[in-house]
Amino acid sequence: MVVSSSTIDLLVKALPHGRVITDPDVMDSYARDRTFLDPGAPLGVVLAAGRDDVVETMRWATEHRVPVVPRGAGTGLAGGATATEGSVVLSLARMAEIRELSPADEIAVVEPGVITADLDAAAREHGLMYAPDPSSYEISTIGGNLATNAGGLRCVKYGVTRDSALGLEVVLADGRILNTGRRTVKGVTGYDLTGLFVGSEGTLGVITAATVRLRRAPLTAPATIAAEFGSLRDAASAVSAIIAAGCQPSLLELLDRATLKAIDDWRNIGLEPSVAAMLIAQSDAADGADAARRMHDLCVEHGASFVAVSDSPAETEGLIGIRRMAYPAKERLGSCLVEDVCVPRSALPDMMTAIEAASARHDVLICTVAHAGDGNLHPVFVFDHGVPEPPKQVWDAADEVFRAALDLGGTLTGEHGVGLLKRRWLELESGPLTRDLQAGIKGVFDPLGILNPGKAI
Ligand SMILES: Cc1cc2nc3c(=O)[nH]c(=O)nc-3n(C[C@H](O)[C@H](O)[C@H](O)COP(=O)(O)OP(=O)(O)OC[C@H]3O[C@@H](n4cnc5c(N)ncnc54)[C@H](O)[C@@H]3O)c2cc1C
Repeated sequence: MVVSSSTIDLLVKALPHGRVITDPDVMDSYARDRTFLDPGAPLGVVLAAGRDDVVETMRWATEHRVPVVPRGAGTGLAGGATATEGSVVLSLARMAEIRELSPADEIAVVEPGVITADLDAAAREHGLMYAPDPSSYEISTIGGNLATNAGGLRCVKYGVTRDSALGLEVVLADGRILNTGRRTVKGVTGYDLTGLFVGSEGTLGVITAATVRLRRAPLTAPATIAAEFGSLRDAASAVSAIIAAGCQPSLLELLDRATLKAIDDWRNIGLEPSVAAMLIAQSDAADGADAARRMHDLCVEHGASFVAVSDSPAETEGLIGIRRMAYPAKERLGSCLVEDVCVPRSALPDMMTAIEAASARHDVLICTVAHAGDGNLHPVFVFDHGVPEPPKQVWDAADEVFRAALDLGGTLTGEHGVGLLKRRWLELESGPLTRDLQAGIKGVFDPLGILNPGKAI
């Protein structure tokens, strides 16, 4: 079907005034996510203010066979929210109401545009917390987190977004409204459609509300350690030892030297030349001080040159702040291909070694941070600002890192999703049977292929 410019006029008329943007300059900011990818030109951007706008948009899209790219805050790192040529970008950011917060049931019912940190802050007023905390939690939306099954710093103890998702309201490709799941803690009626939609990157339906699980917030400030190592491999070995010893950290993050140097050049954190890696670990358990002491000892046993232990909220905030500076600090160095491999935690030292080897072999600056307690590494491949996309040696280094992760029993993406960026490596991880079954599932929910086509599978 040919989509003419008058097609978008029909949508403009069908929705309340001001909901559809067609100005190319304004549309451009809604067409990109946080990757370097150049988007296609969308026909329009819908700023949905409620479920009815989404239903209307999907009915129109089905009638006119127009691709729809759902969008939260556009902080994605895989190209999932990148607009494709002739699509309509469907922004859920204005649907940002926390509809219900029930301390008795320890749940919240939220709209997709709620900012992750806002939900956590609202829960804290009742002694609860919303556990999944991607580093982007102050700027990403719950809808985007659900669609990517986002992870984060606390996931090592509390699980990823899927572990907090109980039920969803989803607008299907043809505009029908589906309610999945429940508001109970348990429930096994039928197939787990909630689990299926979580992580589906906007390819199966548009999430318009979610019932999420809240947890008791820890009563005391967490005990935190920061350990410096002269060898990256030693730091990775300490991570494996901490997990194996059952310390049950609530946060276990690793920063390599290149990342620390980028932060130091920016914010002067007093980095010593001998430091090759830093480990930041926390325990928020009632016996957190004991756990921190055990983690301290394990770091020393594995070669740490310096370990600080603290339960001061201000010091803790400062250390976590260093971790959260990692991405913006790297963006100052150049354009970034941010990768996201995940390996079994015991394979972390070998994965670190493989990344260092790829960096040296291809002469590419790779700065790595890791949600180390999950075995989830973010090697960030830095290339010149102003170059439209990564040069060949960056892709070659990335290819080597992906293959190493798979050889170690890992996966291509731990939390950012496949989006556009990782599709070309999918076959390395999933065989033809998986590919066919996934295409079959897509066909059930989106027979015309209008929901975020070309992404994720
Ligand atoms: C500094 C920084 C740090 C980050 N740290 C982390 C981290 O620690 N852990 C992590 O997992 N990610 C991290 N990310 C990546 C990103 O923030 C997450 O992927 C986040 O979940 C995306 O949310 P968003 O609202 O920006 O979604 P978008 O980027 O807008 O969209 C992401 C995907 O979700 C789909 N989508 C969005 N909303 C909906 C909806 N309502 N219904 C259906 N589909 C939808 C889009 O089509 C797209 O495929 C980081 C990003 C940055 C910039």
